[in-house]
Amino acid sequence: MRVVRSIAKRLTAATLLVCVLAAMYSLSAYASSERVVKQDSKGRWACMKDGKVEKSYTGIAHNKYGWWRIKNGYVDFDATGVCQNEYGWFYVKDGKVDWEHEGVEHNKYGWWRIRDGRVDWSANGVFRNKHGWWYVKQGGVDFDYTGLAANGLGNWYIKKGAVDFKKNGTYEKGGIEYKIVDGKVQNNGKVIYLTFDDGPAAYTDQLLGILDKYGVKATFFVTSAYPSYQYLIKKEYNAGHGIAAHTYTHNYATIYKSTAGFWSDHERIQEIIEQQTGHRTTMMRFPGGTSNTVSRRYCRGVMSDLSRQAGERYMTFYDWNVDADDAGKTRTSDGVFNNITSGVKYHDQSLVLCHDVKPYTVNAMDRIIKWCLQNGYTFRVCQPGGYTYHLRVAN
Ligand SMILES: [Zn+2]
Repeated sequence: MRVVRSIAKRLTAATLLVCVLAAMYSLSAYASSERVVKQDSKGRWACMKDGKVEKSYTGIAHNKYGWWRIKNGYVDFDATGVCQNEYGWFYVKDGKVDWEHEGVEHNKYGWWRIRDGRVDWSANGVFRNKHGWWYVKQGGVDFDYTGLAANGLGNWYIKKGAVDFKKNGTYEKGGIEYKIVDGKVQNNGKVIYLTFDDGPAAYTDQLLGILDKYGVKATFFVTSAYPSYQYLIKKEYNAGHGIAAHTYTHNYATIYKSTAGFWSDHERIQEIIEQQTGHRTTMMRFPGGTSNTVSRRYCRGVMSDLSRQAGERYMTFYDWNVDADDAGKTRTSDGVFNNITSGVKYHDQSLVLCHDVKPYTVNAMDRIIKWCLQNGYTFRVCQPGGYTYHLRVAN
């Protein structure tokens, strides 16, 4: 009996050893078939796989010195422009990804807004390079567009994708007549970022119609509260509005229990955004705002940690400095109108918090937008890394 047991023990030990060896072998096999950029026997910088130059590969690969444009297996030091690999589209200068680069650059597929060395798929608005000022929609220059579009300097008349600095006179949209001088819409110098939380939901489509009537772009902080309306995220995106993450569940007990809990919820809404738009977003808003104290009930200090981690994840987060109060005490369209039109007077840049899940808010929007435009305000979409407003962290 003892012999049998000792044989069994030895067998188990042997099995374990075999397993460990197999795992080590598969790990080393995996490691050796990874793509690495290093010098070949002739001193040329090459993209190597399994110890050989991978001549079939064209894309971007990295080593400890940087990320490199690879063409037919070798680093192409002559390459300058927008190149891609499976992780994204990058701006390459003299063969190397230039992480500092910001501007508008092109490749054979089009012209693209570049931020931090990559195509920024969330970019909407007017961006410049040395050739001109361009109308960008979802990261790419839209050469079919003629109308108005905004950047931090104002609202501009766009003709076929570019600011037409020769335009003078008037332009009419949604019953509002805009006065244009040298391509620029005359305004009061104040900018409004309309933001809508907690949707998409039953009134979102109606809201999209109102925004479209005036050519106004807003930013939507989406959730998964109403799954049957998720298709509207795609509609928002295609219309040139900003798409940002709010949360998947919007459940404070889940998202503020721990930072891990928050980010796993965040990942779920990112997946939905990616399904709908083809890209993840780099913009977000914390439910209740960064200043919420409700989160104390679930985890002390969680907002301090989350706001820091958002930055570490290259996410821009947005609170607000004008509140429609439509998730608070205000329950009428008149109330929402008054809160917004009185609030925006106090700021050069107003980040306005609204909820597209509230019928009285959506019903007030036509009147609000008309009032703002007639009083010279410019509407802009939130941009990652652009203007934001942060409330004080209180937990
Ligand atoms: Zn919310």
